[in-house]
Amino acid sequence: MAGRSLRHRSLRLNRRPRDSSVRLDEAAAAHGGRGGLISMFLSSQAPQMYRETRQRRAIRRALKDAGHPLSPTELLEAAREHVSSLGIATVYRNLKSLQAEGRIVPVELPGEPARYEMAGKDHHHHFHCRKCDKVYEVEGCPGNLNSVTPTGFELENHEFVLYGLCDVCVA
Ligand SMILES: [Zn+2]
Ligand SMILES: [Zn+2]
Repeated sequence: MAGRSLRHRSLRLNRRPRDSSVRLDEAAAAHGGRGGLISMFLSSQAPQMYRETRQRRAIRRALKDAGHPLSPTELLEAAREHVSSLGIATVYRNLKSLQAEGRIVPVELPGEPARYEMAGKDHHHHFHCRKCDKVYEVEGCPGNLNSVTPTGFELENHEFVLYGLCDVCVA
């Protein structure tokens, strides 16, 4: 019973954008002009923009509070604490725009889907727990890696990932 009403609800949510575009077309026809279309567009978009802002704030807050990189699914779960109606498509859309604005950066580990963290952190590395699949931030760095750089090469940057069990999983 609960599953049925949930499905019904998500269907209605999915249909909403199409419904509103139909209304826009009808409004354009009814007003017979560009001005009508624009004012209708603004008034029908305003509530959606408000939701977008609230959702975006929830996403940023969840990422900040986590203190370690989150995958889109982890982020969805965390941000739903603030906005329970949040969906994965909204998370992806906001991740894309936040990244384009330079507010967040992807953490790309070999063979792993991208996680995301706040931009502007000091140089650091990551620890990937192979049991719970969480990625943690590791402060600091072994530093100068010139000693392992081949002779005659000029080192510009480095990446490395620590793997193992986190303190929760090791217990
Ligand atoms: Zn773990
Ligand atoms: Zn380093």
